[in-house]
Amino acid sequence: MSSDFYLRYYVGHKGKFGHEFLEFEFRPDGKLRYANNSNYKNDVMIRKEKFGLQVKATLENISKLRPDGEDFRWYLKLKCANCREASDKWQYISLMESVPLKGGRSSASMVQKCKLCSRENSIDILRDTIKPYNTEDSERFKTVVHFECRGLEPVDFQPQGGFIAEGAESGTRFSEINLLEKDWTEYDEKIQKSVGVYEVTHQFVKI
Ligand SMILES: [Zn+2]
Repeated sequence: MSSDFYLRYYVGHKGKFGHEFLEFEFRPDGKLRYANNSNYKNDVMIRKEKFGLQVKATLENISKLRPDGEDFRWYLKLKCANCREASDKWQYISLMESVPLKGGRSSASMVQKCKLCSRENSIDILRDTIKPYNTEDSERFKTVVHFECRGLEPVDFQPQGGFIAEGAESGTRFSEINLLEKDWTEYDEKIQKSVGVYEVTHQFVKI
């Protein structure tokens, strides 16, 4: 019967971007079905977005609060921008970790496949955007780092150990500052005053 007739057109190959194909089907009901599967194109379609991490804290006799070294760990909770799946787990990224991106064009701090939609997403720390939090920033939000994301969004941040700072007047160096409890206090022998970082909060802004 003529109604059983249908035409299928397929062109594709299995290559380094997976199974890429283009397919048309003229169905007996007169409808046209079209399918296009290309991982390469999906990668291009994932937009790069930048997020700024803003921090606010009250500083007491302290300045130049900043992450210490290449191995500083930024603890984040991430969300897939494609399927909106958010992870409950804290994950960390650091300047020390670098993973090549598909196609070898660039690299990222972390590449991960979304558990729900299988999309390969990535996040990168933009090294040159890391800024110290200074005396004059006290009690105001300041952007301290930019993250470049492909298919991911940072939704939460948890400061932990690994911060350093200086005494605002004394220049005394304080290391191994842990902000997990949102408060940190010490005594500066040089000026015989207490120093501290209090009420640490944060927010993300789209750049
Ligand atoms: Zn997803």
